[in-house]
Amino acid sequence: MTKYKKFYNFWKLGEEQFNTEFFGISNDGELVVREGNYQYNIFDLVKKFGAPLEIAFPFIVEKRYLDLVQIFNFYIKKHNYKGRFFYHYPMKVNQNKEFVLPLISEGANLETASYNELWLVRKLWEQDQFNSRIRVICNGPKTDKYLGLIQELKEKGLFIIPIIEDATEYEALKKFKGDIGVRMKMEIKTESHWNKKNDRYGLSPEEIYDLGRIRNLKILHYHMGSQSMSQDGIIEAVKTATRVYAKLKKINSTLDTLNIGGGMAIPYEKKKHYSTANVVNRIITTIGKVCSDKEIAHPNIIAEWGRYIMAPAQITIFKILCQKPIAKAMAKKWYVIDGSFMNDLIDTWAIRQKWHIVPVNNMTAEKLSRIWLAGASCDSDDCYTAGGGQILLPRLEDANGDYQYIALFDSGAYQDALASHHCLLSSPAKVIAQNGILTIARRRETADEVGKLFGW
Ligand SMILES: *Cc1c(COP(=O)(O)O)cnc(C)c1O
Repeated sequence: MTKYKKFYNFWKLGEEQFNTEFFGISNDGELVVREGNYQYNIFDLVKKFGAPLEIAFPFIVEKRYLDLVQIFNFYIKKHNYKGRFFYHYPMKVNQNKEFVLPLISEGANLETASYNELWLVRKLWEQDQFNSRIRVICNGPKTDKYLGLIQELKEKGLFIIPIIEDATEYEALKKFKGDIGVRMKMEIKTESHWNKKNDRYGLSPEEIYDLGRIRNLKILHYHMGSQSMSQDGIIEAVKTATRVYAKLKKINSTLDTLNIGGGMAIPYEKKKHYSTANVVNRIITTIGKVCSDKEIAHPNIIAEWGRYIMAPAQITIFKILCQKPIAKAMAKKWYVIDGSFMNDLIDTWAIRQKWHIVPVNNMTAEKLSRIWLAGASCDSDDCYTAGGGQILLPRLEDANGDYQYIALFDSGAYQDALASHHCLLSSPAKVIAQNGILTIARRRETADEVGKLFGW
């Protein structure tokens, strides 16, 4: 570390505030990931498994989950808060088995967004991989099929709680013999992705009050949007929801839990960012204060922070195939990668997602090029320009006869389920690194396999 302190600082490695505490630089100037006594050399891995490559680190998922539970419990105790904390993992963020299994084996609860996600839960339940203490919250449109599966799993003894999101679902769940939640629209707006002017999910507070007593109502739920960049915005929403909770509690004595949904942001750009402990502290004190004012008991708190847990647990590696000059821009060259932003990191294109990009080899190069990255599909939108800025990476001439490889951080949330096959490119191979062992989770697709997806 001391030897390369300058480069650690430059590439923002080894820093907990940026979720890069497991990342470092080997003596040979290569990117390494440290899991306790194990160390993975990413340059070796990409030479072994080829590029493009996704590397998943379940130990990071476990660590982030356990730390989060600890932070909530710490502030609950510190403020003598009377409710309990429950974490529910929203499966839509990353449904891959290597990420979901470690979470549930550590005791995380789940949130499903569809019949198919709940179907995976049934599969785990039937294989006895599911502790009966684990709770499952069901969001998403309740089709008859989805409702049927909820009912079936309830009868089999699963701790399952459907959330009412509209008047039709209210009718459909009237006879449900178990705990129920209701989702409220959050009228407060904050700086985040997908925070639309009209929240089309849930009922307005007035609509919920108008329902009167809701049988077995346990949870008041809201979800505001993802990657909330304003700490005050998160707290404002918590305050608003707690006031609604207090009013509802007077009509529904069974109500005992406030679900604050997802939205916790991560520092993709490795710039100064609010601290988790600070946000959690403020959530607990805010709910506590509103409840004291309204003279009601403290609710249990559920958080469904998905991106926050998952994003830092995966990296994506590309090989630089060649370079091309750029005539008039901040950046001087295109580096053409052997993969696709549009296919495998689609948020680059869909929501102008920013990423932290570091070299995999040649990390201690002194001379850097100002570049943009060009994807391998024929689409001119398949590129990454860091918002029109520039990316600094080693010169290809300095790679000592090797290819230059790059690592893109925090690719663990959302990108996998959204991936596609533009130009019939193959998806990246995926390797899981855990306990010093490397397992192939997804082989590189052959042309035949990709063709089959299209009926060939
Ligand atoms: C998408 C979603 C989440 C997860 O949001 P993140 O921003 O990834 O934390 C949580 N709850 C609900 C209801 C969602 O739809």
